[in-house]
Amino acid sequence: MQRYQMYIDGRYADSASGQFFVSENPYTGQPWAEMPRGNQADVEAAVQAAHKAYAQGDWSRLTPTQRGALLRKLGDLVARDAEKLAATEVRDNGKLLAEMRGQLNYIPQWFYYYGGLADKIQGTVIPLDKPGYFNFTRNEPLGVVAVITPWNSPLMLTAWKIAPALAAGCTVVIKPSEFTSASMLEFASLFEEAGFPAGVVNVVTGFGNEVGGPLIEHPLVRKISFTGSDKTGKAINVAAAGHFKHVSLELGGKSPNIVFEDANIDDAVNGAISGIFSATGQTCIAGSRLLLQESIHDAFMEKLLALAKTARMGDPMASDTQVGPITTRPQYDKVLSYIDIARQDGARLALGGKPGNRPECGDGWFVEPTIFTDVKNDMRIAQEEVFGPVLAVIKFKDEADAVSIANDSCYGLGAGVWTSDIGRALRMSEKIQSGTVWVNTYRAVSVMSPFGGYKHSGLGRENGIDAIREYLQTKSVWINSGAPNGNPFVMK
Ligand code: NAD
Repeated sequence: MQRYQMYIDGRYADSASGQFFVSENPYTGQPWAEMPRGNQADVEAAVQAAHKAYAQGDWSRLTPTQRGALLRKLGDLVARDAEKLAATEVRDNGKLLAEMRGQLNYIPQWFYYYGGLADKIQGTVIPLDKPGYFNFTRNEPLGVVAVITPWNSPLMLTAWKIAPALAAGCTVVIKPSEFTSASMLEFASLFEEAGFPAGVVNVVTGFGNEVGGPLIEHPLVRKISFTGSDKTGKAINVAAAGHFKHVSLELGGKSPNIVFEDANIDDAVNGAISGIFSATGQTCIAGSRLLLQESIHDAFMEKLLALAKTARMGDPMASDTQVGPITTRPQYDKVLSYIDIARQDGARLALGGKPGNRPECGDGWFVEPTIFTDVKNDMRIAQEEVFGPVLAVIKFKDEADAVSIANDSCYGLGAGVWTSDIGRALRMSEKIQSGTVWVNTYRAVSVMSPFGGYKHSGLGRENGIDAIREYLQTKSVWINSGAPNGNPFVMK
């Protein structure tokens, strides 16, 4: 068993209580590491350190150019350690090494991109409609940011938040998921090596109610940047309102992947598989509702089932594995329970539907790639996020029907459209209520392109130039350059 420490004010330490909790390897089902079990006292120490670094410490005295240089240096260190960090993520969350290696090799780009943006945060001189005044704006950092993340892509989702937050001049306290804290605790040593002053970045591990709760309630935290379920996101939004904190929320989805009869069918089959079975369906943008035009339904299903049957489950560290285990035991139970619900609601099981108990699955928490057909959009399997390898196939008649089914969801995170008609692609991308629409591709993400949700899928945007605004507030400065002060009882 490996034992980890948390990272507060530039030092690794045990939790204030001295307690630990175990992290399990989803492939073996066995505990492999002990994580410090943080509580209110650890949150207090971390927030105070972050506040000191922000308000009076070395961070606030650095120029934006110096901040940017530190971020770029951090990116170099992540690139150096990518292989080691990817292996830790696989051990802790069971995703494929190929997927985590791809993420880790791309993560440095967040630090390069926002490092480059750090010294380009500019105010504006406003050409006022009132003579005798000089008016300009300053874009100032919000202060201490609480970063709370889920278990499915631990370091990548953290990078999406801390890179713009640090570039903006904020300091951060990170609470990783209790299921996948190891990679963030290893990553933390890179901040010191890159030369970040103590307190700028802190990591407190533990449970949602014991660490997350005190963190979002802390009065010195001015912004909460959260990725996770809509249920927790809603609770955070309510708690934040009590202190008028800024909030950004990246939440769940039930994304439609829509195939028209004029699509390249082989490409669309590939896109449907990638949408739901990559990452074992444990991705917020999973294309978990496959909408098929009636005229191609049967032919498409034949090809889809043939390809899905070839998906290889097994050791996530093995290069030929295509579907890994479910990351957590509760999530494994939840996925299986949704398979029962879909059956009871009248959906037809076309593939899978059972725990993966082949020899190559070992004692891991595997669920077979599962496909339901004859799904109606009002069934729970079409309305609720499963977060696992379970696909709901729904028929549609025409473009209007596809739009209506796609938008009949409380979520709006991603959507795929497969068509060879550019006019249809443009019409669909306009009508679908979703933060991202992919045409003839699926699950493409870039540091440069805004990402976020409509409706219950969230508030705010990550990635791209504008994401840095999520960590800034605007101040308007007025200087009287000769205007008479006049009547004190009348607005100037
Ligand atoms: P979760 O909401 O259960 O937990 C997320 C984090 O919140 C964890 O660190 C948890 O400890 C913490 N938390 C729980 N209760 C809390 C509380 N009361 N106060 C403060 N913090 C609390 O989500 P999960 O199961 O870890 O992750 C899966 C969910 O994340 C899915 O719904 C998925 O769609 C979503 N997700 C969204 C995106 C996106 O970018 N939109 C990306 C990945 C995952």
